Amino acid sequence: MRSLVIGLDADGVLLDYLPAWLNALKERTGYELRVSEVRQWDITNYLPKNLHKELYAARTPALYRTVKPIPGAVAGYHKLLARGHCLVVITSDRPNFVAEKKSCIERYFPVSRIVLAEHGRKRDTLRADIFIDDALANDPDILFDQPWNREVPHPGRVLGWTELVARVDFLARRHPLPVRVHKHATSVV
Ligand SMILES: [Mg+2]
Repeated sequence: MRSLVIGLDADGVLLDYLPAWLNALKERTGYELRVSEVRQWDITNYLPKNLHKELYAARTPALYRTVKPIPGAVAGYHKLLARGHCLVVITSDRPNFVAEKKSCIERYFPVSRIVLAEHGRKRDTLRADIFIDDALANDPDILFDQPWNREVPHPGRVLGWTELVARVDFLARRHPLPVRVHKHATSVV
């Protein structure tokens, strides 16, 4: 099996940030929105207009002190490491979030590198062999299934970390990588 450079998104793939965020909104406003109700990327679609600002006010860097890993992510991450892959965490966020988010990631995952990319520039920034994200807009090779990305079909969708590891195993055995993956790859190790 080949070793690959794998770019992993943080929020929604490694970190289960949304429960913490919605909990902070509830503490701030009393309004309860469940994760399963969020079926589109823009959460404000599910809130009354007077709470839109409150939603973003509830997302603070300190939130990342309470964010937990996605179920199965820690074990899955270690499996990918054990297979010899180079794992790079790539995230987009405001500069004031970086320190707390980095601490949160490092609390659960043995990361060698965290890359901060501009919104929508993850692929260009890292140029990994396989890029894994929960946002369709980032054009991932593997789409990590979440309630907010189910409206559009995706050939690389995985339902959780067990499927994610199996999909990476499948791709790592193929030589060369499928065109859609290979055309972005410049850094096979
Ligand atoms: Mg994400």
